[in-house]
Amino acid sequence: KASSIATLKKKLETAGVKFMMPTYVDMHGVSKTKVVPLPHIEDMVDGSELCTGAALDGVPQDVSDEEVSSHPDIRSATVLPWNNEVAWFASDLWCGGKPFEPCSRNILQRTLAMADEMGYGVNLGIEAEFFVLKDDEKEGFKPLSDRHHLAKPAYDVSRFLDNRGWLFELVSSMNDLGWDVYSMDHEDGIGQFEIDFRHADALTMSDRYVFFRLMAHEIARKHGGFATFMPKPYADRAGSGAHFNMSLTDKKTGKNLFASADDPRGCKLGDLGYHFIAGVLKHLPAICAVVAPTVNSYKRLVTKGSMSGFTWAPVFLCYGNNNRTNTVRIPKSGGRVELRVADSACNPYLGAAMTIRAGLEGIRDRLDPGAPHLDNMYLKTPEELAELGIKQLPGSLSEALDAFATDPISREVMGDAMFNSWLEFKRDEWHAYTNHVSKWELERYLKFY
Ligand code: GLU
Ligand code: MG
Ligand code: MG
Repeated sequence: KASSIATLKKKLETAGVKFMMPTYVDMHGVSKTKVVPLPHIEDMVDGSELCTGAALDGVPQDVSDEEVSSHPDIRSATVLPWNNEVAWFASDLWCGGKPFEPCSRNILQRTLAMADEMGYGVNLGIEAEFFVLKDDEKEGFKPLSDRHHLAKPAYDVSRFLDNRGWLFELVSSMNDLGWDVYSMDHEDGIGQFEIDFRHADALTMSDRYVFFRLMAHEIARKHGGFATFMPKPYADRAGSGAHFNMSLTDKKTGKNLFASADDPRGCKLGDLGYHFIAGVLKHLPAICAVVAPTVNSYKRLVTKGSMSGFTWAPVFLCYGNNNRTNTVRIPKSGGRVELRVADSACNPYLGAAMTIRAGLEGIRDRLDPGAPHLDNMYLKTPEELAELGIKQLPGSLSEALDAFATDPISREVMGDAMFNSWLEFKRDEWHAYTNHVSKWELERYLKFY
């Protein structure tokens, strides 16, 4: 170990690194750290960085409690592409000499250990959608491109090129890190973009998504704008998803266990994949409270009101083939399962932990999700949906929290401390929102009554 740390130190020195950031996340998936100068790398690796847990959302500690310490995962060492003086490390929190139960990264690792015991590795790809905007005195905020706003800006070349400064810097940085970006475009919202990169094991991908948000914020700022991962900044435009694409592999050979060439249901998915889907559907309302974690998240999960005519966001508790009106979708190539309800504000560690755990339960109990839905579900009447036995997703954070509170899987995945913190913090968030008297209410009622 000592020699590998010495090698890493040399490598970082050569790259120009002077400071290190052993970074963990709070309950929201937002990065936190104490910065350590490079000569102290040995101490940092041993967990020298102590933080008072009470300073973080979601850490149920008092000021007098023992501090938590960050334990960097050495494999994740990353020189910041926009500032080579700093190296970033994904880190676990510890307390009292052992992994700290409510640490998000530990929560995911506990779930992945279950998969490992069952003989599986877990692959995850997260599709990154987000807006890059700039502050504006009159409008509050607006897109960087000063061209007129299109009703259907998706795939627009001119608006994409207007943003190429930050976009190409961001994507080149991702590729320099070996993430293998394979596609990017202007999305359906004004100033909205999507960048897609190759999947990885679930822990690595969650680390990358957290790092990606940090990097997008930093690089957008450099170019005079700001990135936002708020799920629905414009009421009349599509919101930002963070679709989770998942598959299980044979942990020994790495072979994809979801792919099947002769799938009688016609989606190129094997039995294991269908059991996984059934587990996810069983627990989907509770999962929503974590993968769609804000008041604003539920304004994305609608079918109408977008200027382009569509939102592509899920609203029903159902699964199907390549068609995007299903919450759980099996993309055309098969061999993986896409959860479309996850949004850009989610804490990927917690979201992945809840979803994967639900899928593993489906496999353990050999659950069957029934036949895939192949039609445009948006067009079904309430009667047709009732006949098919299809329920709506939770319509608000409050409804999702009710499901989260009553589904035993939530506490099992999160552990007591995070389960309680999540409910308490998110219920408060909901109450703060509903008690607020908004501009909309004043405009509608003040002079009306
Ligand atoms: N932006 C859509 C969402 O909110 C997804 C569009 C797409 O399928 O890429 O999930
Ligand atoms: Mg998209
Ligand atoms: Mg997708």
